[in-house]
Amino acid sequence: MQKLQQISKRILYLPPFQETDRPILAAIVGEEKTLLIDAGNSSRHAKLFLDQLEKRKIKGDWLVLTHWHWDHIFGTSEFPVPIISHSKTRDKIKELQKLSWEDRDIDLRVDEGTEIPFCADAMKKELGNQRNILLSDPDIAFETRMEINLGELNCVIEHVGGDHSDDSSIIYIREEKCLFIGDCLYANLYSEKWNYTIENMLQLISQIEKYDAEVFILSHHEAPLTKAEFRSFIQLLKKTAFLTKKYEGDEEAIFGEMSADLHRGLNELEIETIGYFINGFS
Ligand SMILES: [Zn+2]
Repeated sequence: MQKLQQISKRILYLPPFQETDRPILAAIVGEEKTLLIDAGNSSRHAKLFLDQLEKRKIKGDWLVLTHWHWDHIFGTSEFPVPIISHSKTRDKIKELQKLSWEDRDIDLRVDEGTEIPFCADAMKKELGNQRNILLSDPDIAFETRMEINLGELNCVIEHVGGDHSDDSSIIYIREEKCLFIGDCLYANLYSEKWNYTIENMLQLISQIEKYDAEVFILSHHEAPLTKAEFRSFIQLLKKTAFLTKKYEGDEEAIFGEMSADLHRGLNELEIETIGYFINGFS
C-alpha cells in the first residue's frame, strides 16, 4: 500500500503504483488553503489518499487535474471540493461520462483502437467489480494559465500540451521551487506505435524550462527528480530530437552517433527514447 511522503513541510505526495498504473497524487498545503493534484484511478485510490491526508488533519480546498487520462480522473467523485482543469480536459471528461467500463465495452474499444490494451489491463485489475465510475464535471476551466494563492504559497497552473496528451497542464509551486510535470513528458500512447514528435517535444521543453525549479515530479516516476536528474532527462530528449532530425529517423545512424558521443553502449531509457522519436518521425 502506498504511504504519504513528504517533499517539504508544505508538499506531500502518495507514490505511484505500477501494477495498476496509479499515478502520484499530491497535496500542496498553504497557510490558508490546500490544493490537491489529481484524483487517482479509482475510488479506492482516492480514498487511500484522502484518508491519509485526514490523519494529518489536511483537507483539500481545490483539486486540479493534470490531464484527462483514466488513471488521473477516475477518483474525482470522492473529492468534495471544486475541480479545476484545462477546458480540453473538461471536454474529454464529458465524453468519458457517456462510456461504460464493463470488460466487454472496454474490450470493444481496444478492438476499435480507442482504448489501449495496457490501460485496459490496468483498469480491470484496479477496478475489480466496481465498474460504476462517476466522473465529476470540472467546476473551473482555464485556457492558458492561472494562479492560485494558498496563503504564503503561490501555485501556477499552465497548459503545456505535448505528445502524451494535448490537454496536459503542469503545476509550479513558486516558493518551494517544485514543478509537477504530470505525464506530459511521456510518449503518446494512444497510437499504434508509442511515439514522440520532434516539434511537440521541443515546444514542450521550452515551456517547462521557463520554470526555476529544484524538484520535479513526474506522475509515474517512483521518486521526485533532482534538478541534475531532470536536466539529464531533458538533455536526452533534446539530443534524440536533434539526431532524429539529422538522420531522418535512421535508427542505426542515431544509435551510432549517440553511443559514440557517450563512449559507451546505450541504456534502456536511451534506447526507448530513440524508438519513440523514430516512431513519431514522418
Ligand atoms: Zn497520462
